[in-house]
Amino acid sequence: MLSVDDIEKIALRTKVCPICGRELEWTYNNKQQGGKPKSPSLDRVNNEKILTIDNVAIICTQCNISKRNQSVKEFVDYCRKVVEKASEAERVAQVLTEAKADNISITYNTRQNLYVKTF
Ligand SMILES: [Zn+2]
Repeated sequence: MLSVDDIEKIALRTKVCPICGRELEWTYNNKQQGGKPKSPSLDRVNNEKILTIDNVAIICTQCNISKRNQSVKEFVDYCRKVVEKASEAERVAQVLTEAKADNISITYNTRQNLYVKTF
């Protein structure tokens, strides 16, 4: 079982969120319920196992809320999909910007087929 001393031990060695790498904000704020995005929060690493010192980590509130009860691997896989999708959208936006500068009209239909029209 997890004791207050165990949590203190983990807290003393955790300066940054082990998931996103941002520095944790170890400040007390009772005005904002649930803590700020970079406030420390306790995460059960493996949800199938009980709370022990080997199965908890202190991560930022934002990662904890986003991760919910997924494993770290599932959460990272999900984040990869978000990054890939955002990169794809950025590439499309870049192509559209360049095409516009070259007076080329590019449109997509609902099936993602590309139509190119030059003026
Ligand atoms: Zn984080």
